[in-house]
Amino acid sequence: MKIHKGSCLCGSVAFELSGEFDSFFLCHCQHCQKDTGSAHAANLFSTSGTLTWRKGRDLVKTFQLPETQHSKSFCQNCGSAVPTHAENLGFVVVPAGSLDTPIDKTPNAKIFMKSQAEWTKSMDNVPGFETLPE
Ligand SMILES: [Zn+2]
Ligand SMILES: [Zn+2]
Repeated sequence: MKIHKGSCLCGSVAFELSGEFDSFFLCHCQHCQKDTGSAHAANLFSTSGTLTWRKGRDLVKTFQLPETQHSKSFCQNCGSAVPTHAENLGFVVVPAGSLDTPIDKTPNAKIFMKSQAEWTKSMDNVPGFETLPE
């Protein structure tokens, strides 16, 4: 069985997901824009995997947006996104950027594109740099 490892930015929280990811979605909904502060969330979903906190479980807070299925878990020390075990929905959600081990999956789909931020609609001509430009 595959073991995926991840952690937060400050290193206080670490976790493992044993099992496979079923799907990988880039969500452009307005809730995900707010909670990431960016254009979209990038979340992996696992229905059969088991989430184990290796450290810092008591630092993990889960915010559930009232009257929606939107939730976000984060490290209370550094604010990084960490996994959520959505027990009522029967799956684990893992933010792709929280993983330290590589994944062999590419996103299945971009979802909630009707809410896509205007500024992400013409990204092809935006220059790229290997690091901070001079
Ligand atoms: Zn942290
Ligand atoms: Zn979303």
